[in-house]
Amino acid sequence: MKNVAVVGCGAYMDSGYGCPGEWRCLKAAALGEGKFDEASSVILFVKCECPGRTLVPNMGMAMKLSEIKPDAIYLSSCLANAKPDCPYSSAEEMAKMLESKTGITVVMGTHDYH
Ligand code: SF4
Repeated sequence: MKNVAVVGCGAYMDSGYGCPGEWRCLKAAALGEGKFDEASSVILFVKCECPGRTLVPNMGMAMKLSEIKPDAIYLSSCLANAKPDCPYSSAEEMAKMLESKTGITVVMGTHDYH
């Protein structure tokens, strides 16, 4: 069982449509579906907030407070596959920033549910 962190797009989550962080990432992680290659514990869930400048420090703080280093960081499908795109940064740029600051592999997307 892996311990993982998930990052959701706050702008999407706050819209209240579809899945504002309610179940899709959590179900995929619990069952090892979608981008999760095995059943995984979501030990922290960080909500990106526009314009995204607090994402890396918030992830660092969540990791510190949880006292568990995640095996991987997942960018939620609604963030990694955002349409229209995030106006501030690409998911690839966010992944690179997170990887370089934490040293933890970042996976693009979490689930394939509709
Ligand atoms: S900065 Fe981009 S990814 Fe982050 S909440 Fe805003 S729109 Fe979503």
